Amino acid sequence: MSFKVAIIGRPNVGKSTLFNRLVGRKLALVDDTPGVTRDRRVHAAKLYDLAFDVIDTAGFEDAGAATLPGRMRVQTEIAIREADLIFFTIDAKSGLLPDDRTFAEIVRKSGKPVVLVANKAEAKGAQGGMLEAWELGLGEPIPVSAEHGQGLPDLRDAVVAALGEERAFGEEEDEDEEIAASEVLIGEDIADPDAEPTYDDTKPMRIAVVGRPNAGKSTLINALIGEERLLTGPEAGITRDSISVDWDWRGRRVKLFDTAGMRRKARIHEKLEVMSVQDGLRAIRFAEIVIIVLDATIPFEKQDLQIADLIIREGRAPVIAFNKWDLIDRPQELLAELREKTERLLPQARGIQAVPVSAETGRGLDKLMDAVIRTHKVWNSRVSTGKLNRWLEGILAHHPPPAVAGRRLKVKYVTQAKTRPPGFVVQCSRPDAMPQSYVRYLSNSLREAFDMPGVPIRIALRTSD
Ligand code: GDP
Ligand code: GDP
Repeated sequence: MSFKVAIIGRPNVGKSTLFNRLVGRKLALVDDTPGVTRDRRVHAAKLYDLAFDVIDTAGFEDAGAATLPGRMRVQTEIAIREADLIFFTIDAKSGLLPDDRTFAEIVRKSGKPVVLVANKAEAKGAQGGMLEAWELGLGEPIPVSAEHGQGLPDLRDAVVAALGEERAFGEEEDEDEEIAASEVLIGEDIADPDAEPTYDDTKPMRIAVVGRPNAGKSTLINALIGEERLLTGPEAGITRDSISVDWDWRGRRVKLFDTAGMRRKARIHEKLEVMSVQDGLRAIRFAEIVIIVLDATIPFEKQDLQIADLIIREGRAPVIAFNKWDLIDRPQELLAELREKTERLLPQARGIQAVPVSAETGRGLDKLMDAVIRTHKVWNSRVSTGKLNRWLEGILAHHPPPAVAGRRLKVKYVTQAKTRPPGFVVQCSRPDAMPQSYVRYLSNSLREAFDMPGVPIRIALRTSD
């Protein structure tokens, strides 16, 4: 089910121009699928990855009318009633006129989701009109030039924000699946599907602590949550036998996966390997951020890398704690060495935060939690379509995709389809022919350009037709 948009506004603000821009060939692929009964007044439109219908309100108005004729008001109200979303359009160049306020009042009363389109934004003096537009009480004005095709990426993002991802993409869109199927990173995504578009620090952040036996996991957990509160009143977590504790770190709510079970099982030496991997996996699936505790007196082992790799493949973000730092003689040299190793051995998520701590003395725990929170923010981060496509322009200018079998591959645009972790959809000419090396290049470049260290970044390729 796609949604319906009504473009509403007084005469001359640019409604028809915007309409043509949305249903026209430039961005839209108008297809009148036979067999589907189409209302003649409804036209298929496309705005990047959004497919929707626009209600044709042309002819609603009596040309030259200075005031709002009754017929037009009725027609407008009908269109609003039919619509799921309203593009309330103003002329930023001319600024607000009394009719703008009259229309805005009708729209506001309807209670329908609205995107406030400040058209003619490319014109001189449009800035004043933009500011004035706030007065309408319809939210943030989105600067657009329907005539020149500017501001459309931001318009696209505003639509998604106004409708919510579920409604904006409808049933036909299944970004999670496509991204999970991407060859860049394969992993089932079981993170919260209703991810917030913006970072919400009032929700508890879910953390798990993993690591080899004796690395100091329990000591660290005790130090973090305080002995006296340890595992009092455990509650059933997301799966039947996983357990979590709620606590508070300097006012930030945290849900911690209780690894007590893991510890008990680790005492049974024969089964140690198997048990810790299984419990580790459960902990990882529970968590958003996974703290990997390493004993700094013992070098990185294969198992540590495997668990980090697993965390990344599961779409979670790792933060490394180099524990027992109180036992280290030459801390600076060792830290440099360990950080270099982290970068070299875990290139899948460059920039993983790695913090020296002493669970026993409590040193470094503040820094560790700062790193956890920072990583959590990056994991939740969202980049606007406008910024992404400005970045893409630079990439295509300096490092375009290669030619395959004599034909150059084309990359058209990129949008961020999801967060937690960041996932991007790249629209291109022949997804099957795109070399993995180029996709990796895009992913690394995205990570750098938008400052997303230490978290998995997923890229799905998709063809535009
Ligand atoms: P409508 O009456 O709201 O449907 O407005 P139209 O689409 O007919 O546009 C009214 C006038 O504004 C026309 O002369 C358009 O060329 C002009 N116009 C539309 N969009 C833009 C724009 O983005 N920038 C500028 N400068 N003019 C525009
Ligand atoms: P777990 O098996 O990963 O839960 O590890 P424990 O928390 O049980 O710790 C294993 C051993 O390491 C215990 O003897 C702890 O006292 C010791 N330990 C833990 N953290 C530190 C630390 O920061 N410094 C030192 N010197 N010893 C530690």
